Amino acid sequence: MSNNKREGLERLIYIGIGISWVFVAVVITLWIVSMCFFRSDAFAEGRCKDLDVTWTYKTSTGETGECSLPFRINIPLGDRIEFSATLPDDIGDDTYLSWLGGRSFTLYIDGAKRLSYDGDDAWLPGRIVKSKFFSIKLSRADCGKTILIVKDEPKSRNGYLGTFTYGNMLGIIGDIFADYGFNICAAFILFFISVVILLINTGIATIYKIDNLSFRLLGYGMMSVAVWVISDSFLYQTLFGDAYISGIISFMMTPIMPLVFVRYIDEVQKHRYQKVYIALVYVLLTDAIITTVLHFTDIASFELTMLANDIIIGAVSAVILFLIIKDATAGHLPEYKWVAIGIIGLILFSAFEMILINIYTPYSGGLFLTLGIYFLLICSMIHTIGDIITSEREKRAAIDASLVKSTFLANMSHEIRTPINSIMGMNEMILRENKDPDIGTYADHIKRSCNLLMSIIGDVLDFSKIETGKINIVSDPYSTGDLLSDLTNLLNEQAKAKSLGVELDISGDIPTVLEGDENRVKQVVINLITNAVKYTKTGHIGLTAYGTPVHGSSYELTFEVSDTGIGIKDDDQDKIFDSFTRVDQEKNRNIQGTGLGLAIVKALCNIMGGDITVKSKYGEGSVFTAKLIQNVVDPAPLGTSWKQVRRKEQERVEYRASFKAPGKRILAVDDNESNLMVIRQLLKKTELTVDLVDNGKDVIGLCREKKYDLILLDHMMPDLDGVDVLGVIRQRPSNTNYYTPIIVLTANATEGSRKEYIAAGFDDYISKPVSGEKLEEIMAKWILPAKEQASNGKKGNDIISGFEIDDSSLASESKPSSPNSDSASKITALEELLGPDVFKQVIIYCGGREFAGKVLAKIAEDSLKALDNMKNALDGEDFKSYSINAHSIKGMMASAGMENLRDHAKEHEFAAKEERIDYMREDYEAFAEEIGDFCKKVLDCV
Ligand code: ADP
Repeated sequence: MSNNKREGLERLIYIGIGISWVFVAVVITLWIVSMCFFRSDAFAEGRCKDLDVTWTYKTSTGETGECSLPFRINIPLGDRIEFSATLPDDIGDDTYLSWLGGRSFTLYIDGAKRLSYDGDDAWLPGRIVKSKFFSIKLSRADCGKTILIVKDEPKSRNGYLGTFTYGNMLGIIGDIFADYGFNICAAFILFFISVVILLINTGIATIYKIDNLSFRLLGYGMMSVAVWVISDSFLYQTLFGDAYISGIISFMMTPIMPLVFVRYIDEVQKHRYQKVYIALVYVLLTDAIITTVLHFTDIASFELTMLANDIIIGAVSAVILFLIIKDATAGHLPEYKWVAIGIIGLILFSAFEMILINIYTPYSGGLFLTLGIYFLLICSMIHTIGDIITSEREKRAAIDASLVKSTFLANMSHEIRTPINSIMGMNEMILRENKDPDIGTYADHIKRSCNLLMSIIGDVLDFSKIETGKINIVSDPYSTGDLLSDLTNLLNEQAKAKSLGVELDISGDIPTVLEGDENRVKQVVINLITNAVKYTKTGHIGLTAYGTPVHGSSYELTFEVSDTGIGIKDDDQDKIFDSFTRVDQEKNRNIQGTGLGLAIVKALCNIMGGDITVKSKYGEGSVFTAKLIQNVVDPAPLGTSWKQVRRKEQERVEYRASFKAPGKRILAVDDNESNLMVIRQLLKKTELTVDLVDNGKDVIGLCREKKYDLILLDHMMPDLDGVDVLGVIRQRPSNTNYYTPIIVLTANATEGSRKEYIAAGFDDYISKPVSGEKLEEIMAKWILPAKEQASNGKKGNDIISGFEIDDSSLASESKPSSPNSDSASKITALEELLGPDVFKQVIIYCGGREFAGKVLAKIAEDSLKALDNMKNALDGEDFKSYSINAHSIKGMMASAGMENLRDHAKEHEFAAKEERIDYMREDYEAFAEEIGDFCKKVLDCV
């Protein structure tokens, strides 16, 4: 069900609850008003009062006597009885005389017949079984006259006469309401609560697919009791007109009412005694049928069978009580303790109700039964609340566990990625440097397995992000030409590797620039392409791309990826989008996969306002259609420009030269490993021997042992910094490297810093991030003999002394990153993150597109470590360590082209140097968040 529908339904339920509470409030107010204003006995106020006179009765057997009302005398069935009295003197002209009577009677005043009612007048078969209110209009002339009531009812108990009241009509109705209103109010409230319970239950069943049967049964039970009380009330006539059918309804319902409760307790007792309860249901139903037939065939009215009815209901209640006791002894009671208390309460209240009905006439039934049902309601509410609390606790525990799982997965992926990155890096070295074909094959295998592992880890990370709702969708303008160029290149490469054909159908109408998350769009389509290739042995893979404007600037971008592969069975087509689901395992057992890809794709499509569908014929192939909503930035149609765009730019950015200088040895010192990685990479093809050291102390030792042609020395390092090391090396001319050129590497790129370093004794100065070009220039300046330096400016395949300029040396890196689409897409993701211009700088600085990814990953990891160090330093107020780590981050952010972050790090570095602890404390969190956020984004890309 969609969220909108769900919200709509929930709103409806709340409206239902609201209306019912308003209704309850109105009824209660009415009742209170009736009690306060109509209850007055003061006739002077023009309301009504009891006819308080002495009556004389006379039976057909000649028995006579005086009585006051209400009065009952047992007379044989079919006998006749007369009641007479003298009307009082205070009767006005518009006065009504009202009383609760029943069945056949005739009323005379001074011998003149005023009203006659015959119980045989019923339009339904069977006897009229319910008392009702009568009234006649009196006038002043009736004062002091004799009232005579003759009752003649052959088939019913008859020797009863209830009280009379007289007054105006409003007063009479008010008086009746004050007497019986409480019952009926309680019943109406009960009715509405039952409606609310049923509504809520239906809502929950529709929305959450959970049908709480016991809750529903309670609703039905309450509703039937409410209807019974309303139909049995003497007010029924006042509220709904002069219809005696209500009496029949209430009698018919008497044996039916307990049915729901029998079913309810069976449900609560988890069907342990189902057979007994089925037997009880049969007994009650048989009772209902027999008493109804007897009544309608005029053999025995409901009134006569009422006692038998009550005995049966009593027996049913006794069985229920027995089974509750049995459960208690068997230890089942704690499961439904409160419901059991409620049921016992209901039985006791019902018993009281039955006794009242049988011994006290006229008793307007329902009050105690209503109270009993309220009692049950409260008890089962307590039970339900207990259930909700328990299940809420369990749910929370499950959510916590799932969160722990997702966080664990995310951490694991990060943790696993770091060593794999080094494995891949080392393996890359083996691949480049190795000459042995066997080792080459092994290294190739390692590379492929690492790529697979990385893509699985990427999926796991994405999946855990989706599960915890932390997936980030950015919205930036991107060129659709670049996107399609990358996708088609990738498709061509993958299909070629499996000798599959490719069919492209790219609509030229797609706008040139769209806004959205290009990487995620790419991830969706790459996943589909990879699957298509994976599950296809022969034939071709198709990629169709088109789009339609939706509304405003929204644009629905559609990708169809088709294949002629193994296809998916109809029954499986819904399942494949579930996480961890792989179908047709028999056929697929040799194909690697986790079953996460399509789940991620679907989630991404949904997050991007679209959807994914599949059409497939088993054995023939599949078509996956992904629709994504993007924004149009430049509507100019794309045409066929996607065919060349991206590759050109890559070639231009990555094409650069290097030189060779075998036999020369240099030392590079930096506490930051990513910088060392870059230096080594940049100098790799120069064939220089490069020693790398990450701390000042080791430099001193090394410099005693080896003679270097050049030393690249970082300034800010923990313990011994660059200036200290320089001092040691330059202490005595007898030192091995006393005359070696020492170049400072520093992130202190402020105006004037060059001068300061030269003054400090350094031979030259390179600011970080160090670019390949700058490094070459410095190398040339300090290592080459002066004669050759002049010609070093031009690049070509010349040989200059020991240096050989080799334009093609980085050719392997400059190719769009091999068939490994995964790493290509990661690099593209990084490019998106940094922006094309900054990324170009980083590539130049690192000397290669793929290597840039590795360096950035290292930068991110080291920066996070440095952040931690800063935190510790802050806690211990260690200004030096704080400033060194801030400085280190500054350098790394500069290498990553992140100028704002670099400046922010610089602020902290200087704050520490100036011991401005307040600023450090105030701003550290914001700084850590900024840097951490960037680093995590980088790590998520790679
Ligand atoms: P996996 O890692 O197993 O490929 P996915 O979530 O990408 O996981 O796909 C789920 C399942 O859907 C696969 O295991 C496979 O059975 C089926 N499937 C996906 N794409 C295709 C396709 N193009 N042709 C046939 N079956 C496919």
